[in-house]
Amino acid sequence: PEAGARGVEPRVLVLANQKGGVGKTTTAINLGTALAAIGEKVLIIDLDPQGNASTGLGIDRKSRQISTYHVLAGESSLAEAITETVVPGLSVAPSTLDLLGVELEIANERNRSHRLRSAIASLSAVEVSEPFTYILIDCPPSLNLLTINALVAADAVLVPLQCEFFALEGLSQLLKTVEQVRSALNPDLSIHGVVLTMFDPRNNLSGQVVADVREFMGAKVYETMIPRNVRVSEAPSHGKPVLLYDLKCAGSQAYLRLASEVIQRERALRAA
Ligand code: ADP
Ligand code: MG
Repeated sequence: PEAGARGVEPRVLVLANQKGGVGKTTTAINLGTALAAIGEKVLIIDLDPQGNASTGLGIDRKSRQISTYHVLAGESSLAEAITETVVPGLSVAPSTLDLLGVELEIANERNRSHRLRSAIASLSAVEVSEPFTYILIDCPPSLNLLTINALVAADAVLVPLQCEFFALEGLSQLLKTVEQVRSALNPDLSIHGVVLTMFDPRNNLSGQVVADVREFMGAKVYETMIPRNVRVSEAPSHGKPVLLYDLKCAGSQAYLRLASEVIQRERALRAA
């Protein structure tokens, strides 16, 4: 069955990398927007206490009465946390700094790693006319219980990797964690792909990093690279995805290409 048909589960993709500043949040916002622009029904789950995905989508603090904190703490359903954004077809479950404390609060609970997975499963039971076809989870820069919850809830991991000297450092730790989650908690988890971010063609080092990553990760690396582009970094302060801020800029166009690559890989996976 096609994505979007009733009764079809959403595809759950997690943006993970324990390094900060590599483009996880930017990719969650703009890949989500690009998928919505293509006609998918998208939910972004903000699992970073910093709440940058929520802010970048124009969700102000007072619209975050119910957040992912309440969902993980078991106080609210995911459906109750969901807020619409400025982008048609794109919703967000926002986060607040309360999320910093949830790890300790649930540390001794059974199923502490499965909180998000259960919340997403209950969402599918809610009758809506247009169910979500994609759920993107934005993770904090750490392999903590929040990220574990995301990996347990996900079908696949999308790894943003910044084109800089230490890009590969840390990737093996992330891959090891994904492997551990797969063998112990979520046997269906796969690596969707690696997306190279903040690529600068004028920088020789960027080119070398791209070559190294492609050699190490092979076909897992998306062909699309996200260029370093000032419009991409300006957009969040306007509370908008770059696709709404400046559709023609190189960053927006790259995220549109990435979305179609993601959908192509999804079709291939479904057909397999
Ligand atoms: P993470 O979520 O991994 O910490 P972010 O997505 O917040 O990373 O990105 C870190 C910083 O880099 C932000 O200030 C963001 O605006 C900027 N940034 C991300 N992608 C680009 C890009 N393609 N071009 C320019 N700046 C970018
Ligand atoms: Mg972030």
